[in-house]
Amino acid sequence: MLPQAPPNAPEHRTSTSERGAFCIAHCTCGWKGPARRSRERARQDATVHSTEA
Ligand SMILES: [Zn+2]
Repeated sequence: MLPQAPPNAPEHRTSTSERGAFCIAHCTCGWKGPARRSRERARQDATVHSTEA
């Protein structure tokens, strides 16, 4: 038997990165959020993504 991740628990590890005056949310699944003026907003995008995905 091969070790496998549970199918109903996909890995969505989000992080934010800053680009000049903007902040962008990223996810390990390849998702990328829109550029935001505040880190707070980018984090919100990441939270919404990881809860909706
Ligand atoms: Zn994701």
